[in-house]
Amino acid sequence: TQAPVNVTVTGAAGQIGYALLFRIASGQLLGADTPVKLRLLEIPQAVKAAEGTAMELEDGAFPLLAGIDIFDDPKQAFAGANVALLVGARPRTKGMERGDLLEANGGIFKPQGEAINAGAAEDIKVLVVGNPANTNSLIARSNAPDVPIERFTAMTRLDHNRATAQLAKKLGVSVSDVKKMTIWGNHSATQYPDIFHAEVAGKNAAEAVNDQKWLEEDFIPTVAKRGAAIIEARGASSAASAASAAIDHVYTWVNGTAEGDWTSMAVPSDGSYGVPEGLISSFPVTCRGGKWEIVQGLEIDEFSRGKIDASVAELSEEREAVRKLGLV
Ligand code: NDP
Repeated sequence: TQAPVNVTVTGAAGQIGYALLFRIASGQLLGADTPVKLRLLEIPQAVKAAEGTAMELEDGAFPLLAGIDIFDDPKQAFAGANVALLVGARPRTKGMERGDLLEANGGIFKPQGEAINAGAAEDIKVLVVGNPANTNSLIARSNAPDVPIERFTAMTRLDHNRATAQLAKKLGVSVSDVKKMTIWGNHSATQYPDIFHAEVAGKNAAEAVNDQKWLEEDFIPTVAKRGAAIIEARGASSAASAASAAIDHVYTWVNGTAEGDWTSMAVPSDGSYGVPEGLISSFPVTCRGGKWEIVQGLEIDEFSRGKIDASVAELSEEREAVRKLGLV
């Protein structure tokens, strides 16, 4: 059998971590033939809780789980990492300005980028989940100059999955009938879920829906504000669905997208679709052989253009703010 793959997870004792680690241990991150070694990073106060989760993982007797190590030092946690899931972040608290939030996260993602640069494996793949995910990924990437930039991504797969589910529900079809959904821009309320290129059972999704009012007043806000709706209903933020999307993101990146389909990932822009180079922005991407590629040549109408530009403008502002803080 294969040698174990080292998977580093930060914020391992948190809500998302709790849902995520069991899915990884069961083989759903990389596939049913790939053993994994977990390297958990937590802040010192949360190491004990991470140890508790590790005990439960042990009790799962997962055949693919080849070991668990727990760290409070990023240098150690990322040593030899093949896959890194950066989940722990500083959440925005009441009254906190965006600048303060970005600065607090700079204190987390700068040293993590440096640690990835110093010690991760040659084939390291990084997914940032902790918010503001796109800009946190940019900070980590900017502090890992020796790692190829395409290894740094951020998660919009949950938005992609939410959009797919909402569209399937509207049309009364199965989610597996929906192909080529796209999330553009930032993982924030400005994100743009685009159904103009999506297909439902082989037909164009926007034509199948044929309802611009639903699109603008129902679909887009429902997808963009789903996180808040879940907090309202559950009394806690979404965790299992975010973990599930992180699994999907990495699984697709490693194992590829299906023929005739694509996925959404926030990746460093090469200038495609007018998104300034270097911003970590969500695009339609195909994956093959462990590499992603932005889908080219899609026609963007005026409505979509406005929505994409608005979300990308927010990313540019965030980049400007972290530049001023000396984080990138
Ligand atoms: P969660 O596990 O619920 O969330 C972790 C991060 O994921 C947050 O930044 C959250 O953003 C983000 N996130 C992204 N997408 C979603 C989504 N769809 N739904 C919900 N969250 C999403 O947070 P907890 O507070 O339970 O746990 C965080 C853990 O991280 C703690 O154990 C803490 O100790 C640890 N931590 C570790 C660090 C490290 O390893 N160096 C650094 C900082 C924290 P949002 O807040 O916007 O919801």
